[in-house]
Amino acid sequence: MSTHLKGIGITDQIAIGKVIIFEKKDIDLSNERDELPYEVKEKLLLRSIEKTKKEIETLYENLKERNPQEAEIFNFHKALLEDEYFLDKLKKYLKENFSASWAVKKAVDEISLEFENIENELFRERAKDIKDVGEKLIKNLLGYKESTIDIKSPRIIVARDLAPSDTATLDKSNVIGFITEFGSPTSHTAILAQALGIPAIVGVKDVLNYLKNNDEVILDTKNGLVIINPSQEEKEYYYQKIKEEEIIKRELENTKNIPVITSKGKRIKIFANIGDFEEGILALKYGAEGVGLFRTEFLFLNRNSPPSEEEQFLAYRKVAELFREKPVIIRTIDIGGDKKIPYLNLEKENNPFLGIRGLRLCLREKDLFKTQLRAILKASYYGNIKIMYPMVSIKEEIEEANNILEEVKRELEKEEEKYNEKIEVGIMVEVPSIALSLEEVIDLISFVSIGSNDLIQYTFAADRTLEKVNYLYLPKHPAILKLIKHVINVCHENKKEVGVCGEIAGDLEMVTILAELEIDELSMAPTKIPLIKKILLNLLN
Ligand code: PEP
Ligand code: MG
Repeated sequence: MSTHLKGIGITDQIAIGKVIIFEKKDIDLSNERDELPYEVKEKLLLRSIEKTKKEIETLYENLKERNPQEAEIFNFHKALLEDEYFLDKLKKYLKENFSASWAVKKAVDEISLEFENIENELFRERAKDIKDVGEKLIKNLLGYKESTIDIKSPRIIVARDLAPSDTATLDKSNVIGFITEFGSPTSHTAILAQALGIPAIVGVKDVLNYLKNNDEVILDTKNGLVIINPSQEEKEYYYQKIKEEEIIKRELENTKNIPVITSKGKRIKIFANIGDFEEGILALKYGAEGVGLFRTEFLFLNRNSPPSEEEQFLAYRKVAELFREKPVIIRTIDIGGDKKIPYLNLEKENNPFLGIRGLRLCLREKDLFKTQLRAILKASYYGNIKIMYPMVSIKEEIEEANNILEEVKRELEKEEEKYNEKIEVGIMVEVPSIALSLEEVIDLISFVSIGSNDLIQYTFAADRTLEKVNYLYLPKHPAILKLIKHVINVCHENKKEVGVCGEIAGDLEMVTILAELEIDELSMAPTKIPLIKKILLNLLN
């Protein structure tokens, strides 16, 4: 009899194979305090920090070409080892007579707890990164060897959790799946699985109690299901499913370069939503005709200070050059709501979704906004970049943002910096007030993109992150369809393009409705593009 366990499935794939268990050796931390002089311990600690930094740099160098997304995590690791706040804590505990390894443990526990207390999954996951670095440092202090995973034939890796340093040296060509006891959709294992296109199921409670090396399992990621020691029938069923999926994949590949034109002769552009360069690569692979939404907030997360103008410029330029003549719509930062950035020291609000968010924040934090606009404008010289403001409620906000943009352009001209002088500026329609008064502001902008995730949240007054009010996520409700229709009509009457970049742009039912309403562009997660294209092509031709 097979055993079925549930977890969170990552990437829509099936894996069948034998498992290998990855267990980490526990570190012996018995010497809490010692009598060594402070200077000796400090020297010991600084030497171990240098050694750990070198190891991290090697991991980064080895990975940066093959898997830039995973490599980036090691930059965060290194930054912690150079962080004054962390180093001060270490020194404080050494002075209190803690042993060097305990000083690291105490500092890491405190800082990771601060991250864990932030109400955001991404930050909670970074708390694990901090513990990972701490563990590495303690191992170096105590002279432990790193545990490594050595696999010589195709295996599904099973672990309590996988840290970046556990997987960095792994020969991934033999990994056919991951199962972890802990983890969430934003955990390191999930990020890695997505980057490599390997099926994974994370958060499978007590999985290690059920498995030993070489047990056979099936991973059904769509249903978050781990089937241990499957029956012959179960295996045959899943082998058949793998075959069917391969056929679908091949068929989707065929539609990749076919433009969507409706039976009425209307061309609908299929764009992608991305958060970084790697997703841009994926978007092109799946046939995106441009980027409808570049969520720049991700550049600002997981760090202690905002990215510099140069760092932002390079990040935007890289994406612009990747897409060449294809449009890349860069959304200025949409921080606030559920996306918090500790280093901005924003005031706590009772209703963050109704507070200082998106453009409202940028208009208050002008330096932050101007730095981003400078970086975007400079990058605009290298591709087809457009600017988009999020969370707009009234005309005056657009006017103020445009004034700042003009100010930044003048500054760049004075400095003889090149930028695209004809750069287009658009807004996201996410708030009913702007949807219903679009005719008042249409002359101030070149295009519109409907952010349906927020438009639905604000129309029904239902927090998009609160499960209890999820029943009010009603994209097909007449209230939403009326708003969308109105926005499309105003845009078309004024000869401006209008797209959708909320989740409904990748929803099988909603795209047919949006096509009927004559939407010009749909922007969605890269992996959704082939299927949506196919649906629109079948339906409309
Ligand atoms: C939206 O609100 O639909 C949108 C695309 O923006 P985000 O999901 O980033 O708020
Ligand atoms: Mg939004």
